[in-house]
Amino acid sequence: MNPRLAIVGGGPAGMMAAIRAAEALGGQAVVLFDKNDRLGRKIYLTGKGRCNLTNRRAWEEFAPHIHPNQGFLKNAFRAFSNEDLIRFFETDLRVPTVTLQGQRVYPASLVAGDVAHALERRVRELGVDIRYRSSVGSLAELHDFDAVIIATGGKSYPVTGSTGDGYRLAEEAGHTVTPVFPSETALLPKDYDPGLPGLEMKNVGLTLYIDRQEVMHEQGDFNFTDDGLESGIAYHLSRRAVWALYNGQRVDIVLDLKPALTEEQLRDRLLRNSQPTDVSSARQNLSNPRSSSGLKNLPLHQAHARQLAGNSAEKYLERQSLLPKALIGPFLRANPDLTVDNLPERLKRWPLRISDYKGYERAVVTAGGVSLKEIVPKTMASRLRPGLYFCGEVLDLDGDTGGYNLQIAFSTGSLAGASAATYLLRSV
Ligand SMILES: Cc1cc2nc3c(=O)[nH]c(=O)nc-3n(C[C@H](O)[C@H](O)[C@H](O)COP(=O)(O)OP(=O)(O)OC[C@H]3O[C@@H](n4cnc5c(N)ncnc54)[C@H](O)[C@@H]3O)c2cc1C
Repeated sequence: MNPRLAIVGGGPAGMMAAIRAAEALGGQAVVLFDKNDRLGRKIYLTGKGRCNLTNRRAWEEFAPHIHPNQGFLKNAFRAFSNEDLIRFFETDLRVPTVTLQGQRVYPASLVAGDVAHALERRVRELGVDIRYRSSVGSLAELHDFDAVIIATGGKSYPVTGSTGDGYRLAEEAGHTVTPVFPSETALLPKDYDPGLPGLEMKNVGLTLYIDRQEVMHEQGDFNFTDDGLESGIAYHLSRRAVWALYNGQRVDIVLDLKPALTEEQLRDRLLRNSQPTDVSSARQNLSNPRSSSGLKNLPLHQAHARQLAGNSAEKYLERQSLLPKALIGPFLRANPDLTVDNLPERLKRWPLRISDYKGYERAVVTAGGVSLKEIVPKTMASRLRPGLYFCGEVLDLDGDTGGYNLQIAFSTGSLAGASAATYLLRSV
């Protein structure tokens, strides 16, 4: 009887593995199991429905976005790189692509379903035996097969079928699974101001502190949502923030609303932009109304030391065009002791104590997983059991948002499929 390969999980990693294995062995030698009634269910949700397929950066710039061990991915990336992936989609799958901001690559249609359909169509064309609605509960069920690839994904968005089954299957084969935790997920500030959700923050800075030590700084965009700080640079911080919270450490994030300007430059700008009305507004806002009469003759810098509060503070900030209008309320509530003098510092240091994070139901990716120490990076083969391979998010390998996670799935899937086929052809 011809050798047969079982692939558990028909996400991007499993489908790519199936394509490579079927190209080498013929489709009838490959059986692909998935829980759902269609393949790649998670792909439909990716990139906000547009599917950020990969990132076009060269390896040197790509690698720092891979965690916790970028070196592990190097072989798989070389064997099937981001440029190879783009060629594969354009030529083999007939899915044109487009490269947008930040070197992010999408299908030109900007429809994620096109990616999932094209992959599933290719798997079918190659004659792979697809078993829909088939959940593999144990490796023992696959005793008829000569090789097995585990491509079950992580635990995030479990509605898509990724419920962490692969960790159990790996342990059954004697593999170590490192602690798993949600990543690329929302970070919830303590006493979250109700005025913040819905605000989109553009070109700001975020600095992460763990146990009061600065560990990371990012500049760019993020959103305040109902769940806290989300997407963009907030997601980039979330991996280390969630891990710290998971370990009971203190997590703070400091928001810099004006990363392009120093405090000095901000102060100069405030003084330059100050009009007589601003100074009198600031004067009128003195906490001690009795002293306001004496302010008339105060030099400008002294007036600036005075407190800003209430309506005129709002007007002052509006006139200075320092903040988006909707942010002024939350900013003033966070800074009840605001003065014109401390304003530059407060604009650059808005501390947010992080008390919680959104779990797997909303996390883009699962960090942790099958220990990389027990996997051969050149083949994706288990070091413990011949004929067993792993690929995709089930591994202790994850990336930042920006197309890195799908490239991990495609590169490791391609390598696992090709290696399993070579193993089977050799062992016949
Ligand atoms: C909302 C969202 C948006 C995202 N956007 C992007 C993006 O734009 N770009 C990017 O690079 N990454 C993105 N990601 C991450 C990316 O989708 C994943 O990292 C990637 O899908 C992982 O691929 P995978 O094949 O390893 O696992 P999955 O895609 O999770 O697929 C695993 C498959 O295995 C099946 N399965 C599980 N257990 C069993 C079992 N016991 N038996 C049979 N089948 C089983 C599941 O049904 C599933 O189909 C996003 C993730 C989410 C949740």
